[in-house]
Amino acid sequence: NSAEISLKDINGLASSSFPLCMRHLFDKLRETHHLKHGGRMQLGLFLKGVGLRLEDALLFWKSEFSQKVLQIVGAERFDKEYAYSIRHNYGKEGKRTDYTPYSCQKVISSTPSTGDHHGCPYRHFRTDAVQISLVQNFPTAFVAAFVVYAHLLHPSAITSSLFDCFLTSLSGLAPDDLIYFNSEENLRAALTKMGVCGRSVDGILDKVRNKHYQIACTLTFEAVHDAPYDSGINHPNQYFDASRKILQ
Ligand code: SF4
Repeated sequence: NSAEISLKDINGLASSSFPLCMRHLFDKLRETHHLKHGGRMQLGLFLKGVGLRLEDALLFWKSEFSQKVLQIVGAERFDKEYAYSIRHNYGKEGKRTDYTPYSCQKVISSTPSTGDHHGCPYRHFRTDAVQISLVQNFPTAFVAAFVVYAHLLHPSAITSSLFDCFLTSLSGLAPDDLIYFNSEENLRAALTKMGVCGRSVDGILDKVRNKHYQIACTLTFEAVHDAPYDSGINHPNQYFDASRKILQ
């Protein structure tokens, strides 16, 4: 486990030492001042793992939420629901289980839906999809392409749910059979933002295409820190700890 971290260092640490999954959640929280339950759990437990004390965690979430959500849900509801679940994560409520941060395997196998930002970006940024065999099935492909096009052009509640219907209608087909488009560009942009250069990005995307998400993450770590990392990433908190060791 890492040493304690202080609230004032959190922005700097997020850009220098958070793995992409947590960096993405952190940025989304800063941007929208809200995260759904899955995102709050994934980021909250990670922050606990990096050494954010309970008091600071409560301050952190409250100050982020205060900008928008607190106005809507009210401070009372924050204390009742959100603060309760934060204390719960720290083993201070309910069964008093001391919950541990999620491993890569758990994050990668989670199933975020529309509006969620949790999960592993190497796997889940690939959200806009068409099934390969649909290409041979013109009428379905045409309808699907229209829905996807409409969704990309004007993402709205209606196109999102049409899009979800479309995805559900593919049930019976393994998600891995899906061809993803638009996805690589999202990932490329996120990696560039982390400071990964073009050639390294290509190598990382190659691993993603072959579904080697943790290897892609390890290559990102190496590119960001300009140092080899032979043991491989299998936990977001391991990424953080290894990063601190190099940067301190
Ligand atoms: Fe996070 Fe693990 Fe995915 Fe890296 S491989 S982004 S640490 S879940």
